Amino acid sequence: MAYQTVNPYTNEVVQTFTAHSDADVEAALAAGHALYKSDWASPANMSARLKILAMLAEVMNARKEELARIISIEMGKLIGESRSEVQSCIDIAQYYADNAARFLAPVPYPDVLGEAWVEHHPVGIILAVEPWNFPLYQLIRVVAPAIAAGNPMVVKHASNVPQCALAMEKAIADAGAPAGTYRNLFITPEQVANIIADDRVQGVALTGSEKAGSIVAGQAGAKLKKATMELGGNDVFVVLDDADVVRAAKTAAGARLYNAGQVCTAAKRYIVQAAVADEFTRVVIERFQAAQMGDPLDDATTLAPMSSQRAKNDLQTQLDQAVANGAKVLCGGAAVPEQGQFFPPTLLGNIERSNPAYFEEFFGPVAQLYVVADDDAVVALANDSNYGLGGTIFSGNVERAKQLASRIETGMVFINQGGDSVAELPFGGVKRSGFGRELADLGIKEFVNQKLVVVG
Ligand code: NAP
Repeated sequence: MAYQTVNPYTNEVVQTFTAHSDADVEAALAAGHALYKSDWASPANMSARLKILAMLAEVMNARKEELARIISIEMGKLIGESRSEVQSCIDIAQYYADNAARFLAPVPYPDVLGEAWVEHHPVGIILAVEPWNFPLYQLIRVVAPAIAAGNPMVVKHASNVPQCALAMEKAIADAGAPAGTYRNLFITPEQVANIIADDRVQGVALTGSEKAGSIVAGQAGAKLKKATMELGGNDVFVVLDDADVVRAAKTAAGARLYNAGQVCTAAKRYIVQAAVADEFTRVVIERFQAAQMGDPLDDATTLAPMSSQRAKNDLQTQLDQAVANGAKVLCGGAAVPEQGQFFPPTLLGNIERSNPAYFEEFFGPVAQLYVVADDDAVVALANDSNYGLGGTIFSGNVERAKQLASRIETGMVFINQGGDSVAELPFGGVKRSGFGRELADLGIKEFVNQKLVVVG
């Protein structure tokens, strides 16, 4: 696909970018490898690298409004949500500037064979393959720990957010990073495969769909390269019979409509106990119907367009198939603005296990409602999924919710609040949602050589 900015609100082709050649790729790998082999990458030089991260936070802070507008214009996000995304990037850069030295300090081990410790060394160039839905935040989650650890990066970003890709590359260069630290590449899947096969590349971090993840993880596995995969989700939003149902329903609606529903950890399956189901459904529908579709750059808009015409059409096909297989539309079909890739908020009920929708991720403002009798039914339904990313439980009894949280097969569970992500907390999933973690101390340990040294 061409690397192109197509504004999903105006449908205007804003700018098209020239693809990088194999020679460009070779130059990026050569620069990255030279940097990895230099003193810059050594553990002893960490404080210089952390200064670059602190400066990156400053650079992004100074450009906050400009960066937020680029996000909104390229993939349609509401401007307020884009500003929050840039703030998250600033927080993550600053977090690793402040904490990476502690995370990567040598760790003493028992002196069974002599004095022993584990040091943390960079491993070489890391390839990142990233999606458009949080087009700056997805990048910073991998690049901040990479800079701290001393791993150079080459990056293939999604083809519909090339200006975000270039803006991050420029911010890192302007923060004082030496050549080879970070190189954006507008490349094809074939070139990605060639990069993975290159001996100078020692790790692959992908965030995206299950399909892309299985291809890229397979290529990494074939070359014995470490990989982290942050893939799709079909997260549950559970409301128990003792919950504050109105608060739960308002949170559930917001957690489905944020970023026009294009969030891996969005609340995609509402699982509600029978006693509170009617009230929950009423409030969710009220919220869905109140969504204001319009210009993402207007602060009054509350529901953004989807990222592209293709994304909207794919979602419509999924919805039609769900209905053809017996799902009932409880709310949906609202009029959308003539201009822009808008999809009306939709609530689906009556979804049988035989319906393809039961197992599918809907990447847009379509929620599924399941009404169940008891806690065991909640767990059975929640775990009857190929995905295992996050989940939410609302209950008036935190102990009861904690017991359920421990039984749900996901990488993250939130009790009495919607799912969220911050620099200080690890992020990632199990099953077909992928493997490995980003953020916090766990994220920075994914691509380092944990080297044992023993003094006899
Ligand atoms: P996608 O199609 O998988 O795209 C993600 C990235 O992979 C893009 O850069 C894409 O490039 C690239 N790509 C696709 N096929 C490839 C191949 N064969 N070889 C190399 N690169 C390839 O994902 P999407 O559908 O746009 O994004 C949404 C998905 O990401 C959802 O499933 C969502 O849940 C998931 N996601 C997960 C997380 C998480 O942290 N777990 C976070 C955000 C999103 P092109 O753009 O050029 O195709």
